[in-house]
Amino acid sequence: MTTLRLAIVGAGPAGIYAADILLKAERSFDVSIDLFEHLPAPYGLVRYGVAPDHPRIKGVITALREVLDRGDIRIFGNVEFGRDITLDDLKRHYNAVIFATGAVRDATLDIPGIDAEGSYGAADFVSWFDGHPDVPRTWPLTAQSVAVVGNGNVALDVTRILAKHADDLLPTEIPANVYEGLKASPVTDVHVFGRRGPAQVKFTPLELRELGELRDVDMVVYDEDFDYDEASRTAIESNKQVKVIDRVLQEWRTRPGVNNAGGTASRRLHLHFWARPVEVKVDDEGHVSGFVYERTRPDGVGGVTGTGELREVPVQAVYRAVGYFGSPLPEVPFDERHGVIPNHEGQVLHADSNELVPGMYATGWIKRGPVGLIGHTKSDAMETVRHLINGQGSWWQPEDPSEDAIPALLAERGVQWTDLDGWHRLDQHEIGLGEPEGRARIKVVPRDEMVSISRGE
Ligand SMILES: Cc1cc2nc3c(=O)[nH]c(=O)nc-3n(C[C@H](O)[C@H](O)[C@H](O)COP(=O)(O)OP(=O)(O)OC[C@H]3O[C@@H](n4cnc5c(N)ncnc54)[C@H](O)[C@@H]3O)c2cc1C
Repeated sequence: MTTLRLAIVGAGPAGIYAADILLKAERSFDVSIDLFEHLPAPYGLVRYGVAPDHPRIKGVITALREVLDRGDIRIFGNVEFGRDITLDDLKRHYNAVIFATGAVRDATLDIPGIDAEGSYGAADFVSWFDGHPDVPRTWPLTAQSVAVVGNGNVALDVTRILAKHADDLLPTEIPANVYEGLKASPVTDVHVFGRRGPAQVKFTPLELRELGELRDVDMVVYDEDFDYDEASRTAIESNKQVKVIDRVLQEWRTRPGVNNAGGTASRRLHLHFWARPVEVKVDDEGHVSGFVYERTRPDGVGGVTGTGELREVPVQAVYRAVGYFGSPLPEVPFDERHGVIPNHEGQVLHADSNELVPGMYATGWIKRGPVGLIGHTKSDAMETVRHLINGQGSWWQPEDPSEDAIPALLAERGVQWTDLDGWHRLDQHEIGLGEPEGRARIKVVPRDEMVSISRGE
């Protein structure tokens, strides 16, 4: 029977689901899969994006782990495609590749002052609080007042972590340096800004409701934002999710804190709607000193238009949570505009001609763009794998498809790769670190430490 030697690049949910789906699929050939991952630990943004105080979502790792633990997929962690292994290598040793490299960069927000000191991308902050090995250990949490720009769930995560008292994060897996940093934060006010109205937000109801449950944090909403137009009223009546969001916000309007009056908590969380970012104000030292926005109003066709009224809120830090963006991979077509690998249902296309590139497939956020939940990467992977199976005629014909060739190649290049046993060692080590403190785990952050623990050195 023919064997498909498949390389998958990226061990996030998209890559792992693709491997699982292929192994379980009805097919007329055997499969041998190698999963290459740039980090020494698998699970992508489930480990390094999903917030530490969302243990239920982090629990998806259990399902992903079961797939890896079956033992029919080889993992090569701490191996970066484009540096440690190249497209030519893959063509020499595999019949096909699926790229599942996700998106880790912040999308840009093109307003004056956005590059000032004290202005950050949400993705970098998320990487810090989730213990990503490739970001600095310390984060400058010196601001009393902070602006968060964006009305999606990442904005909510950033807002919640900034506003929450550090001790309330202690039961989670946050690394020690993150706890220390947040503990010392002098923050009192976090302002969240969205261009559109309460009925147009991209938050999901559960995540929004959670904001209102933070200890010693008052929710502040402003009556002027709730003067709904016809489109908003229709959205609330016709869409269950919008209805629940409206109900949550209306309940907050009855609490002390509305229009900033009557709250007693030591921290406040302000939601500003109909607010288009205009400028980040910068002081003489080049540091963020304020956030200027323009009041907007509905344009009658589902969008917004500016009113010309400018307002300024004094803040010392700005976090933009306006979306993630994919990164190009060496020798792989890339769509610069959308930050994805150009593809038709997961079959990679040449960037200029739209013709299929044989042997190359994509799945997950690098295929579809950085929208959607973990569950969506599963349906995504099904589509990609279906094309991979049906595309047998266009697979590469490798010179040396032997499984031994890959460890030999990596060893020859001096790559310190980690494997599944190594991941188990690191996993156990992290669980062990948490045990004396009654915590589920404490993450190991430095890359060299992760690698040496994994490799049993
Ligand atoms: C802050 C944040 C919070 C989120 N919270 C939730 C939530 O609560 N619930 C939910 O359902 N979804 C949530 N999501 C969405 C979820 O994380 C994504 O849907 C999902 O992770 C996308 O999967 P993916 O495998 O495509 O990408 P990723 O998870 O990003 O995985 C890609 C993997 O590829 C690796 N890689 C990249 N480049 C290379 C290379 N050159 N060589 C080798 N490996 C490489 C990366 O290291 C990474 O491990 C959240 C996302 C973010 C950003």
